[in-house]
Parts: sequence; C-alpha cells; structure tokens
Amino acid sequence: MTKPEFIRRLQAASRKSRQYFVAGATALGLCMVGAAAITSWKEHGGLAWTGSFDFGKGLLFAGLIVMVLCLLLAGAGDLGVPCVKCGKRLQGVAAQIAVATDNCGYCGGKAFDEVELDKPA
Ligand SMILES: [Zn+2]
Repeated sequence: MTKPEFIRRLQAASRKSRQYFVAGATALGLCMVGAAAITSWKEHGGLAWTGSFDFGKGLLFAGLIVMVLCLLLAGAGDLGVPCVKCGKRLQGVAAQIAVATDNCGYCGGKAFDEVELDKPA
C-alpha cells in the first residue's frame, strides 16, 4: 500500500466513523425532544390511555441505546489501516506518526510501499 492509498483509507474510515457518531447523536437528540414533548403532553392530560407507563422515559432509553450502538459502530469502523511490514493496525496518533515519518510506530519499518514514480524516457 502506498502512502496516498494509506491516507485515502484513513480518511474513509474516519468519515464513516464520524457519520455513525452524527447519526447516533441525532437519534439521541430527537429522542430527547420527543421524550420532553411526550412528558409535557402527559402532564397536561394527554395519553391517559397509557396509564402509568412512561413513554417519555422509554423513548429516552431507546435513544440512549441507539447512541451506544452508533458509538460501537463508529469505533468498529475506525480500526485503522495495517502496516505493510508488521500488519499492526495504525490508527489515531500511530497513523499520524506513520504519515509524518513514513515509518510504523510499532515495528519502526517503512509503513508504506514505495511509490512508483514515472521515470523520464
Ligand atoms: Zn509496522
């Protein structure tokens, strides 16, 4: 894997991770607003047929579960890119070190394949 490919794969993993986080945060936010609306509605006499079941808390709990699942997916999606020499996955600071120095922070070897440059004829 060449350095540009490595950077492209890192960016793709980071983008996917960010999308999961935004989806989870959005779901949690919507559930919080929904829970507040349902709680207020119930306090003002609405939803009498639900009895003592608290839909607001249920919705809030569902939002939290969705957020946790999205955080797990975000973490799983950002497992980094493997070093070509030792195979350890480079992510976060280790990936930044590899990009800056061209060397793997774990094995010290070249983290990328050489880029084949066009040679003049
Ligand atoms: Zn390595």
